[in-house]
Amino acid sequence: MTLLSVDEARERILSQFQPVKTETVHITEASNRILAEEIRAADDLPLFDNSSMDGFAIRAADSANAAPASPRSLRVVADIPAGSHPTIFLEPGQAARIMTGAPVPRGADSVVPVEDTNFHDRSAGTIAPDEVQILHPVKNGSNVRTRGMDIRAGNVVLSKGRQLKPQDLGLLAMLGISNVNVYQRPRIALLSSGDELVDVDSPLEKGKIRDSNSYTIAALIESAGAHVVRLGVAKDNFDSVKSLLEKAVAEHVDLILSSAGVSVGAFDFVKEVIESSGSMDFWRVNMRPGKPVAFGNYRDIPIIGLPGNPVSAFVGFEVFVRPTLQRMNGLPDGNRPTVRAKSAEQIDSDGRESYLRAEVLEENGGLVAHLTGHQGSGNLHSLVQANALLIIPAGVKCVPAGQEVTAWLL
Ligand code: AMP
Ligand code: MG
Repeated sequence: MTLLSVDEARERILSQFQPVKTETVHITEASNRILAEEIRAADDLPLFDNSSMDGFAIRAADSANAAPASPRSLRVVADIPAGSHPTIFLEPGQAARIMTGAPVPRGADSVVPVEDTNFHDRSAGTIAPDEVQILHPVKNGSNVRTRGMDIRAGNVVLSKGRQLKPQDLGLLAMLGISNVNVYQRPRIALLSSGDELVDVDSPLEKGKIRDSNSYTIAALIESAGAHVVRLGVAKDNFDSVKSLLEKAVAEHVDLILSSAGVSVGAFDFVKEVIESSGSMDFWRVNMRPGKPVAFGNYRDIPIIGLPGNPVSAFVGFEVFVRPTLQRMNGLPDGNRPTVRAKSAEQIDSDGRESYLRAEVLEENGGLVAHLTGHQGSGNLHSLVQANALLIIPAGVKCVPAGQEVTAWLL
């Protein structure tokens, strides 16, 4: 039987999904959310001409030829702290003491930093002096941040599909935009399966291992901007698997993710339960690790069955689930950031599309990939040591040392 290629499997999954609904949230709740609208500035930024220095607002012409030996003396007619609104019009020969961020008064075109005045080595005091000596000339416009120099009202500042970063939230606040339309977080049910699994907080008995997938995959789901509904661990029997899938249905999730129980073992019940109340599309893909990855529907909810081995489950998530969550979030389908790196060693492959754990380092101006230890699909430590997954395409049996390969940065 010929196995499904990775690309075909991914297409078959993606074709079943579309962007989820949107909702309006306050910017205190919007970090990492995906914008479902384009944001235009309603105001100019800066909002008004303001000083970028503590100093004196003047007309630049009044500082011409100023020098420490022959300073220009100007009369101080106003004191402008940040947050005030000057109403004066500055005439030739006049100066106004001004603080960083304060509005530049009409008539002034420049700000002389306090360091370039006779107050350079001592405080000008809380009360503005009557007179200031300008020691160095300024150019017209110096140290003034003019209205609209960063953003003009009407400009598009954030585009639809952007994952909101901390600095985006600050910009929205600057623009007076407190509510934004974002995609609802897709709801993803997560279960592990296996009689051998115990939770991290429970005592370990002989023959048992700790459930790690629940923790890795939940964090991956959250990293992709989705919400996790944790269903816990199913036992290796029909009823236990079925009861957790029924919980997922009751939770109205958009997707069910399971791990393990989809292979050809005698106690792999996940496929059977899916088929009892839904249908399987496929359950094996031509890849390594991660061949036993399944896709189907359980009572009309799509379900992706990831393999049980911890590295296989991780790789299956990156290859199939991350792009699916991106599509649900209204983003272009895509995987992790991709680079090309030279393999530091010869890599032998069995011809399946392979995903290898590696550390990609910059060496002599180029990127070089070093495999991180043995590539067994249960060896989670080698994934912890890696910062990339190298992709060896299907059909390739050997990559010689020094050859370039594609790598996803983790
Ligand atoms: P299975 O697909 O059920 O045959 O599981 C394959 C391998 O993955 C077995 O060695 C399991 O013990 C292991 N495994 C399954 N589920 C988990 C899990 N949640 N955490 C860690 N290892 C697991
Ligand atoms: Mg099992």
